[in-house]
Amino acid sequence: MADRITEGYKLYKDNAVFVEHYEPNHMIFKVKNKNDFYLVSMIYGYWNCECADYTYRNQREPGSFYCKHLQAAQFKLLDLLNNSVKG
Ligand SMILES: [Zn+2]
Repeated sequence: MADRITEGYKLYKDNAVFVEHYEPNHMIFKVKNKNDFYLVSMIYGYWNCECADYTYRNQREPGSFYCKHLQAAQFKLLDLLNNSVKG
């Protein structure tokens, strides 16, 4: 099984991450994985993904787990920040 960072990076490189909402303290990303979409949100520094992987593992150890969708969203966020600083 590939690691989640690499999987997330692939999703990002495949343009599977869409920005639904973008404010410094409130972001929503939609991550497409095959035929499914997962919403990844960030509110005041708290990240969340609605997938089963995240829901299950985050319950076991809150705040310590990033699923591949969340990783993908953070790679996308880097793009947004790079662009905004340059602009
Ligand atoms: Zn997820």
